[in-house]
Amino acid sequence: MGKKLTTRSEDYSKWYNELVVKADLAENSAVRGCMVIKPYGYAIWEKMQAQLDKMFKETGHQNAYFPLFVPKSLFEAEEKNAEGFAKECAVVTHYRLKNNPDEPGKLMVDPEAKLDEELVVRPTSEAIIWNTYKNWVQSYRDLPILINQWANVVRWEMRTRLFLRTAEFLWQEGHTAHATKQEALDEAMQMNNIYATFAEEFMAIPVVKGSKTENERFAGAEETYCIEALMQDGKALQAGTSHFLGQNFAKAFDVKFATKEGGLEHVWATSWGVSTRLMGALIMTHSDDNGLVLPPNLAPIQVVIVPIYKNDEQLDQISEVANKLASDLRAKGISVKYDDRDTQKPGWKFAQYELQGVPVRLAIGPKDIEKGTVELARRDLLTKEFVNQDEVVEKISGLMTEMQNSLFEKAKSFRDLHITEVESFDEFKKVLKEKGGFISAHWDGSSETENKIKELTKATIRCVPFNQEKEEGSCVLTGKPSSQRVLFAKAY
Ligand code: AMP
Repeated sequence: MGKKLTTRSEDYSKWYNELVVKADLAENSAVRGCMVIKPYGYAIWEKMQAQLDKMFKETGHQNAYFPLFVPKSLFEAEEKNAEGFAKECAVVTHYRLKNNPDEPGKLMVDPEAKLDEELVVRPTSEAIIWNTYKNWVQSYRDLPILINQWANVVRWEMRTRLFLRTAEFLWQEGHTAHATKQEALDEAMQMNNIYATFAEEFMAIPVVKGSKTENERFAGAEETYCIEALMQDGKALQAGTSHFLGQNFAKAFDVKFATKEGGLEHVWATSWGVSTRLMGALIMTHSDDNGLVLPPNLAPIQVVIVPIYKNDEQLDQISEVANKLASDLRAKGISVKYDDRDTQKPGWKFAQYELQGVPVRLAIGPKDIEKGTVELARRDLLTKEFVNQDEVVEKISGLMTEMQNSLFEKAKSFRDLHITEVESFDEFKKVLKEKGGFISAHWDGSSETENKIKELTKATIRCVPFNQEKEEGSCVLTGKPSSQRVLFAKAY
């Protein structure tokens, strides 16, 4: 088990990296910027996928799959999108290797196997998908198209961190086509709401819903809606985006439909995505100096049972109780692991499950068998108590909901304490330096001012929140008039 984790106050970023590796979530790979997601980390991602997939399907979406490669000519068709992503694209130029005559045993790219047209490894799939939609849409009867894809994408990021920013990442990307502008706007808003509900109710992460400024918008979008979360170190994290793409892609790929009235119009589009970055959000919202803390909804193992024994006879007695408890808990839909391995000591197991954020740990020893009790430990509060064996299933059932709610409330009160309204640029800088978090300030609406603030403080506008009162004021930097506050923060 190695030594303890670096604490958050010692070095937050080191704490994060160590935790990801020690809790067995992911590790760096032989490929720069690309990670290996380990089974425990992948199990958490699968839980996120399952819930999101259910929410997408409940709102009428279907899954499909499109190619990994995008021919360059298609990629460049929507100019703004192409320009925005060009600098981080991996490109396939050849399709074959051959033996290197100068270096026996080595391979080289076969110059004769050069592709006529380069293939871009998708950084996002609008181009290939809209090129396909062209063939699918003729009339208003073919609309809407409501499709989601679970896939990997590649963005050649220069500064990568496990889960938060990797060169290859896993995500889902929704791509929808609509007959009217309003319908597409409603779809983008609906998905923003779905992401927020998912983050809050399932991941116990409070988020601010809002729209991005022009600077921060997705390349090729007319509007980007987002959910923004706050991490424990006071930095913000963009946790999900949905884009209203207008008719940009329909125009670039010539996707038109015959209207009910007999006209011919371009189709309206949205796209929306969340990625394995959500794993980073999960870790940095709830975890502590002892390791991962998981909300019960996302925990691959919700309850672990550890036997404490000196001989086989004791183990047999404990196993009888443990197996009965495990099956009663499973009958209530709670996932349980009975860890009776004799290759590790109980103390090692306790530390491991604490590090891996298992919400509830039960320990059963010979004394418990005599008294009809078990020792129950809660991962979120690090508390322990003895509970009667015949009450423990009921108790744990209740705890699953209670822990889920209390993790959300704790994160929410932290987040709310870290939204600070400021009136001057001095105050802005002071709060950013001393307290961090979101800064709610007036802004004159210009990209120039936004860039200047970023240059001076590294803080960017995370979003223009939806749920706030309009309020007249003056820009925190230029003093020019402003009609509402926006949220600034340093971000991941
Ligand atoms: P976008 O297509 O840029 O709107 O991004 C879609 C989602 O993927 C957003 O939730 C982003 O936060 C996330 N994302 C963007 N780049 C990366 C990356 N390099 N690694 C992990 N997630 C990312």
